[in-house]
Amino acid sequence: MSFAIPAWDLSSLPVVGGEDRFPVRRIYCIGRNYAEHAREMGADDREPPFFFLKPADAIVQNGATIPYPVATNNYHYEGELVAAIGKPGSDILPNEANEHIFGYGVGLDMTRRDLQNNAKEMRRPWDMGKGFDQSAPCSEIYPSTQIGHPSKGVLWLKVNGETKQQGDIADMIWNTPESISYLSGLVRLEPGDLIFTGTPAGVGAVVSGDEISVHVDGVCDLNIRIA
Ligand code: MN
Repeated sequence: MSFAIPAWDLSSLPVVGGEDRFPVRRIYCIGRNYAEHAREMGADDREPPFFFLKPADAIVQNGATIPYPVATNNYHYEGELVAAIGKPGSDILPNEANEHIFGYGVGLDMTRRDLQNNAKEMRRPWDMGKGFDQSAPCSEIYPSTQIGHPSKGVLWLKVNGETKQQGDIADMIWNTPESISYLSGLVRLEPGDLIFTGTPAGVGAVVSGDEISVHVDGVCDLNIRIA
């Protein structure tokens, strides 16, 4: 097959423990999945989960330096646990969801908060606030065959070494299996899908020159620098 224009490279992430990479198909994100963060964004606890997407080519590799994005003056970090789907499915039951997870990583749901807030006020889509270029830094993927299925453990985020977010993934409103179950009732999940599982309280802005580190116990660290 030949293409009428040059085709682009598939987005992918390294897989720990081998040479293979994890190809990225879709990036789903869960909104407001920690009670304290939901409150800081003005919502009640345990509303049904809701989802938005980022384009696959928004992926940024661990250790990268990324430019401060265009069209914002309020560029926010959100540190998150990321689940990587390895087996397809629709209407997945919560107690079977782990079988669909290939592995886990640590991600940043980078957000142009001013554009997102404006979209909320105008009742318009969030895409330009959430799904912009290089908005999805993500670590290498750790197979669940190596690390199991983390359901508790500290998630912290530091900017220039100073702690900004500290939560526990056990405090998700909808845990990873529940989120996968719910999402798979809306769309069929396929191998290559990533699910950013939401962020704890403490989101805030970064500026040029800042260094962001995110850690999830039992997974790994993600380090990103803003040029
Ligand atoms: Mn998020």
